[in-house]
Amino acid sequence: MVSELVDFSKLCVHTQTTKPWSIEECVKNYALAGIKGISVWRNVLENKNLKEVKQLLDEFEMDVVSLVRGGFFPSVDKKMRHKAIEDNLLAIEQAAAIGAPMIVLVCGADGGQSLEKSREQIAEGIVKILPSAQRSGIKLAIEPLHPMYAGDRSAINTIGQANDMVEMIHSSSVGVAVDVYHLWWDPALQFEIQRCAAHHHLFAFHVCDWNVPTSDFLNDRGLMGDGCINVPEIRSWVEESGFRGYNEVEIFSDKYWAMDQFEYLEKIKEAYLTRT
Ligand code: ZN
Repeated sequence: MVSELVDFSKLCVHTQTTKPWSIEECVKNYALAGIKGISVWRNVLENKNLKEVKQLLDEFEMDVVSLVRGGFFPSVDKKMRHKAIEDNLLAIEQAAAIGAPMIVLVCGADGGQSLEKSREQIAEGIVKILPSAQRSGIKLAIEPLHPMYAGDRSAINTIGQANDMVEMIHSSSVGVAVDVYHLWWDPALQFEIQRCAAHHHLFAFHVCDWNVPTSDFLNDRGLMGDGCINVPEIRSWVEESGFRGYNEVEIFSDKYWAMDQFEYLEKIKEAYLTRT
């Protein structure tokens, strides 16, 4: 059963995971390592000709899983909310240009107003960009973030809240991105994954680990197996629910960014095979 043991067909890596690399390096080096899936962060597209990026992705037969990220809709300032809409419309154009079928939404929050108000503005924002996303055939995945980010990064902090919003918006183009880092602690996780999948809106699955202790709440994520998250168990819930998409490795880590990125990529592959 060797072939099963070395199956990387559902492995995707986020460009931010290998932050020191440019988009060109990510594409070439992932492909060389036998990794098919890539989620592209917008920072690596800055000042790039997107046609050339698309050609490169095609040349190396990479499967673009998602563009990361849109969102950040809420603000107490109306002008900022308007700016956010424009930026999300730009993200839709960028996704279409590089052949990404989905945009991950880090929905945003403004500490100057209530979480309920921020959630209202998130729903308004998504509804505003939805026609454009649909015209381009781009799906929108709401990624709930851990509650420690509720003050500034996302007013959607549980998969239950994400499911509520997706069901309210009620469009086949809007779904949920499940990230183990943000959701592992939630006693309702298995139930909400089933609820999400039953409505066909489980769009993405992100993996990494929660280091104990954690030295930085943004840039100290662990590789699968480093920390306390039972990633194989959560993956089994996701797959039992019918999800057949990629396992996307999304790790922000000063420690791993400091090491040789080729060696790191091999570590990622090993962790994916044995601890995911
Ligand atoms: Zn994620």
